[in-house]
Amino acid sequence: MKVDDLSKEQLMEKIKSLNREITRLKEKEAQRIHTEKALIKTKATAYAFINATSDLAALLNTNGIILEVNEAAVRRVGKRVTELTGKCIFDFFPPEFKDFRKVYINIVLQTKEPLRFQDEYKDLILNVCIYPILNDEDEVERLAVFVSDDTEHRHNEELLHRYSQILSTTQDLMAYIDKNFIFRTVNDAYLRIYKKSRKEIVGHSVEELVGKDYFEKKIKENIQQCLNGQGIQQQEWFDFPDGKRRCMYMSYYPLLAKDKHVTGVLLNSVDITKIKQLEEELKRLSVTDLLTQIFNRTKFDQALKEEIKRCRRYNTELSIIMFDIDHFKHFNDTYGHDVGDKILVSLVNLVKKCIRDTDIFSRWGGEEFMLLLPHTSLENAVKLAERIRIKVKEHTFAKVESITCSFGVSEFIKEDNEETLIKRVDNALYESKRSGRNKVTVM
Ligand code: GH3
Ligand code: MG
Ligand code: MG
Repeated sequence: MKVDDLSKEQLMEKIKSLNREITRLKEKEAQRIHTEKALIKTKATAYAFINATSDLAALLNTNGIILEVNEAAVRRVGKRVTELTGKCIFDFFPPEFKDFRKVYINIVLQTKEPLRFQDEYKDLILNVCIYPILNDEDEVERLAVFVSDDTEHRHNEELLHRYSQILSTTQDLMAYIDKNFIFRTVNDAYLRIYKKSRKEIVGHSVEELVGKDYFEKKIKENIQQCLNGQGIQQQEWFDFPDGKRRCMYMSYYPLLAKDKHVTGVLLNSVDITKIKQLEEELKRLSVTDLLTQIFNRTKFDQALKEEIKRCRRYNTELSIIMFDIDHFKHFNDTYGHDVGDKILVSLVNLVKKCIRDTDIFSRWGGEEFMLLLPHTSLENAVKLAERIRIKVKEHTFAKVESITCSFGVSEFIKEDNEETLIKRVDNALYESKRSGRNKVTVM
């Protein structure tokens, strides 16, 4: 039919029809591009995802053809990428597995929901998850398959189970933690100390049990390092659900599989609170005078050294008072040594009320005391010594009624070292004694 043969109306009709067809095709093309774009987007996400996981992962089409595999899968299977992509995944399984793998995939295609199952194959225990990837029409386009090898975990769990009798009686906390920071196994001590059932801990994350704060600050990095193959020991203080604060000595051991890759972390935590407390007490005792419970000479010497250093660096003031009970020998001889001891304790308590928390008050010798006064001028130190002198004189001590003390006061000068400063204040005290006692002398 030639155009000439058509009537004008027929021609117009033909053009209209062609235009409609073009519009329809354009729309279809736009739709296709839109779908493709959406699909690429999902595929890109899927690719990124399978390459990010440490599980074995693959992207399949709906017929089970492998489109993409990640590094972990390539390494585990021991074939090249080109030997895997384009092949049907079922061909890699023995015949008895093939069929029910197909069934699993069909379930996902129909339900469009992810499916998880566990496979035991030869010596292997595999956790498998199949995810459907949907297109815009809500049809399954692709399947993402993730396989995590649970064999080593199971092996380690069984090993720990074999020692469970020992583990259940010990007070130490022992746990097997996997590379996702999930508790795989814990001993009974965990249940006792956290007041939880095994179910409430196993399968849950470390963060969930100890709280985000502790996990981030005190645990996460250690597990991470341990997963990189490095054993770690560390002490940390924790608040436990029973309201007790405990110091735990924690040892992280990497657990290795036969091929030497780290499968998880064995964490052993020992409560060393008592040892810590004893250590603290020992430290305190080493700088404490047993009779009066103020600092001893060792602490005074340390503090003087530090304060002089500080003075030099920041150019601050530092003063020192040395005082000694007058005729103490007489009180001892008259009322007995016990009364003498009580005088020393009462005197210390009296002086404590006159000084600041930052002042270092120490027993220098028998009935001689030192006051180290940071940020204190000579003038203020003299005022303090005067105040103490009067307070002591006016205080009523049991049995002996009244005692007095003599004082020496000095201020640190640039040319001083520890010895010269002490020598000067000692001379000042001696001068107070020499000139009649119950006095404050400045040098
Ligand atoms: P002065 O005014 O010159 O300081 O005379 P004093 O008798 O206080 O001086 P001296 O140094 O001769 O005597 C100090 C006495 O302090 C001797 C000792 O018996 C007594 N003393 C030292 N340490 C203690 C102690 O821990 N408890 C008791 N009860 N007495 C102590
Ligand atoms: Mg004395
Ligand atoms: Mg003395």
